[in-house]
Amino acid sequence: MANAFFNVPTPANEPVRAYVPGTKEHTDLINKYRELYNQPQIEVPLYIGGKEIKTDDKRPMSPPHDHQKILGYYNQGNGQHVEQAINAAMKAREAWANTPWEQRAAVFLRAAELLAGPFRDKMNAATMLAQSKNVFQAEIDAACEMIDFFRFNVQYMTDIYKDQPISSPGVWNRMEYRPLEGFVFALSPFNFTSICANLSASPALMGNVVVWKPAASQVYSAAVIMELFKEAGLPDGVINMVAVDGSTAGEVIFKHRDFAGIHFTGSTNVFRNLWKTMGENLDKYKSYPRIVGETGGKDFVVAHKSANAVEVATALSRGAFEYQGQKCSAASRAYIPSNLWNEVKDVLVQQVSSMKMGSPEDTSNFINAVIDKKAFTKISEYIEYIKSASDAEIVVGGHYDGSKGYFIEPTVCVTTNPKFKTLEEEIFGPVLTIYVYDENKYEETLHLVDETSEYALTGSIMATDRYAIELAVNILRNAAGNFYINDKPTGAVVGQQPFGGARGSGTNDKAGSAMNLIRWTSMRTIKETFVTPKDYKYPFLG
Ligand code: NAD
Repeated sequence: MANAFFNVPTPANEPVRAYVPGTKEHTDLINKYRELYNQPQIEVPLYIGGKEIKTDDKRPMSPPHDHQKILGYYNQGNGQHVEQAINAAMKAREAWANTPWEQRAAVFLRAAELLAGPFRDKMNAATMLAQSKNVFQAEIDAACEMIDFFRFNVQYMTDIYKDQPISSPGVWNRMEYRPLEGFVFALSPFNFTSICANLSASPALMGNVVVWKPAASQVYSAAVIMELFKEAGLPDGVINMVAVDGSTAGEVIFKHRDFAGIHFTGSTNVFRNLWKTMGENLDKYKSYPRIVGETGGKDFVVAHKSANAVEVATALSRGAFEYQGQKCSAASRAYIPSNLWNEVKDVLVQQVSSMKMGSPEDTSNFINAVIDKKAFTKISEYIEYIKSASDAEIVVGGHYDGSKGYFIEPTVCVTTNPKFKTLEEEIFGPVLTIYVYDENKYEETLHLVDETSEYALTGSIMATDRYAIELAVNILRNAAGNFYINDKPTGAVVGQQPFGGARGSGTNDKAGSAMNLIRWTSMRTIKETFVTPKDYKYPFLG
């Protein structure tokens, strides 16, 4: 029993390594990449109750930039495995829920230190291989963001626990932050290794048990996350990872009485369907499930006529094309004033044409492959649509080649139609659509931006005119959950820019903040009266 109120280590963002060629950190990481690439094929099991389970259904894992290379196989589970994972979680629940908070915190603080040190290269290299990220994109995601989630969430947890009600004379009021009464379903996307880890880690930190289903294309790095959790000392059964079809997982989980909440990041349509299914099954659950979902985006950059054209072009080059535009926050539509267009276009075309594309092993490549064949087909169909449209033209890029890897050139198109399809729909690839507006119609254009798509995740305004900035802040108040002034709309940092959007972009529970963690607790208010009345009569009765 701890007779003390502990302070936790003050969190700070993990410094981002630069990986300049020739440095030791660069050499070590590339060596780790080669080691993983060349090692004998691995097998990723299901992780249920601390056991590694193999199935008869083996599925290959390949780098998106080198799809004929087989890194190994993962074991695909079925409905029975999902049942087993739920049972293992429920079995672990009592011990974990009753574990003192400082012990839970220590597991994730240890995970942060392990990742900052001995696991760093492996987590980054696995993400480069499995999800085709360049060294820098891997570092800011798989190392730094994941470390930040672990460290900052420990601080936020204690901030929450410290939040207590007032008491009145003769009474002591207390607030207890209980884990949810059941298990949490973590359902993760392919694109951020850190998000995948956090979807299960943040409920677990708050004392919950978790069934985690990763995306098929992320299983390779998901296995490294499970290795990290084990090394950090997370008890068996607290987080159980099952690679299964989403619908198979849903079929079992959403009918289960102990289903207590879903922590989802992924596409909007999937989330809407999941919510409908939960609604249809509501009578089955012990409690109303907590529903947290961060979903798609159609993120914008608006330039005002006072903006600097080179800065606008650079924000677009980075914002639209880092990680091949496969960030929920990626700039995918831009509104450029007529006075700046020629210069923005020249700089943007020059910058984008200079981007090298290929394997992340060659760190001079800015662009790598898109995640899989399905994404490659979908994105190339959008490019063909643009090519065939009479009201749009491609100004740079537009080629793609899936023969060795799923490579799509960073592509910029300009349209004269303010409601052009690629200004409205999420493509989730390296395609940026630009609408050039009359420089004197700024306010109208802000309303256009607000009304053009169903999403509201990220967006930015580029301007030097303060009144123009203020107008954008006001008119676009509900158009983005993360709003940037004179910056690209990507690259949110835990603790600095809590992340999430509203409208079609999610429940906006802000990953990397106390707001997210509070969803994984169910509070109990305790009132203790020290001298209990012995007569029912109040004074007013005379
Ligand atoms: P996705 O929706 O295709 O998949 C997400 C997860 O849901 C995967 O594990 C998938 O297997 C599972 N799934 C798919 N269909 C299912 C079903 N019917 N039942 C149960 N599970 C199902 O998303 P993705 O392609 O992996 O990721 C890209 C999407 O995620 C984009 O839309 C992007 O904007 C979004 N995203 C949002 C954020 C954010 O913070 N808002 C962050 C990252 C990604």
